[in-house]
Amino acid sequence: MSAPRHCLVVGAGVAGAAIASALADKGWQVDVAEQAHAPAGGATGVPIGVLSCHVSVDDNPLSKLTREGLLKVRSFAQAHLVKGHDWLDCGVLERRLDGHTKKKTWTPAESDSVWHGWVQTPTDLQLAQAGLKQVSADEQLWQAQGAWIKPLSLIQAMLDHPSIHFQGGQSLKATEIQALGYPAVVLAVGAHTSDFLADLPHAPELPLVPVAGQISWGLQEAAQTPAFPTFAVNGYGGFVSHVPTPQGLAWYSGATFHRGQTQAEVTVQDHSENFLKLQQLLPQAAQALQSQWQTPNQLQGWSGVRCTSINRMPIARALDPVKLPAWYVLTALGSRGLTLAMGCAERLASEMDQRLMD
Ligand SMILES: Cc1cc2nc3c(=O)[nH]c(=O)nc-3n(C[C@H](O)[C@H](O)[C@H](O)COP(=O)(O)OP(=O)(O)OC[C@H]3O[C@@H](n4cnc5c(N)ncnc54)[C@H](O)[C@@H]3O)c2cc1C
Repeated sequence: MSAPRHCLVVGAGVAGAAIASALADKGWQVDVAEQAHAPAGGATGVPIGVLSCHVSVDDNPLSKLTREGLLKVRSFAQAHLVKGHDWLDCGVLERRLDGHTKKKTWTPAESDSVWHGWVQTPTDLQLAQAGLKQVSADEQLWQAQGAWIKPLSLIQAMLDHPSIHFQGGQSLKATEIQALGYPAVVLAVGAHTSDFLADLPHAPELPLVPVAGQISWGLQEAAQTPAFPTFAVNGYGGFVSHVPTPQGLAWYSGATFHRGQTQAEVTVQDHSENFLKLQQLLPQAAQALQSQWQTPNQLQGWSGVRCTSINRMPIARALDPVKLPAWYVLTALGSRGLTLAMGCAERLASEMDQRLMD
């Protein structure tokens, strides 16, 4: 007889919420324990996120995972979130300003390319809307399936399932969890993974790197609106505007990347770095924001710590099927966790389901 399908998920960021949702959809009972009092106590607390693919000429494994994840999160958002308020399928203009492979080396829109329907050359109108009349369309990509999303709305909707039981204020240690005797445990603690595993006997060391970062944001003034594109832009930092918040429309810019840093704090230096990037990414928007950026009480910041792996691939697997048969991990979602989480969670949930039935 197979073991009862009951799982403890540790951590309620997008990884924890996505695996809880994927397991619950397969008929599991899922307890989610989060150390903060509410979901999104870590990197998933970022107020806005861009959903976009990792575009590569050789269609590498990360590209494939981002396409799979993007389809899943878009379809979930379509069914469970309010378009225009919680998310928007506005498309993403990707400017390749950071030395990445130039689009001119291949033609993504060719009908036999895997990127057909995903990546196009931006139109003159799109470039004009971004204030980029003088740039060559050849070095920009239009990601037609791209979107922005509010991560908290996303994970609240994922956790809103009759078979998922959320408990906040639970900072559980590995040995305490072992004593609880769950048939399956998924570790989804983001940048806390290495510390957590250090206390779990027989746990492997995972090749993880913390990357702290900050976004800058503010409320959008009516006079600025014509200078801001209605879609998201990324490629050297990112920019999203026209986002409804309780205080009015908001814009968001960033982020910074500090590899190896585990402390998340909002700093003036990171605000400056975000502004310098925006000046290159979208000079017209940067100009419209110049005075607001210099007025401290009009500029807000948010910072957090992502977790990435050495090869930038997410980690979604059994920890050690022989020595730790109940334990799984879903982490290293890096800078694209909102795009990747649901696809990775679906694969992991299928593996867990299969193992429990064997
Ligand atoms: C500045 C910034 C901007 C970003 N922008 C984007 C973007 O535009 N698009 C995108 O897709 N991604 C973006 N990301 C990345 C994205 O936020 C992350 O990939 C994603 O949130 C990681 O989710 P996670 O669930 O793995 O980790 P987390 O969200 O960090 O979740 C881990 C959770 O585990 C909890 N926890 C830790 N230890 C314990 C314990 N012992 N017991 C119980 N709970 C515990 C924590 O409180 C936390 O809630 C950004 C990240 C940052 C920092």
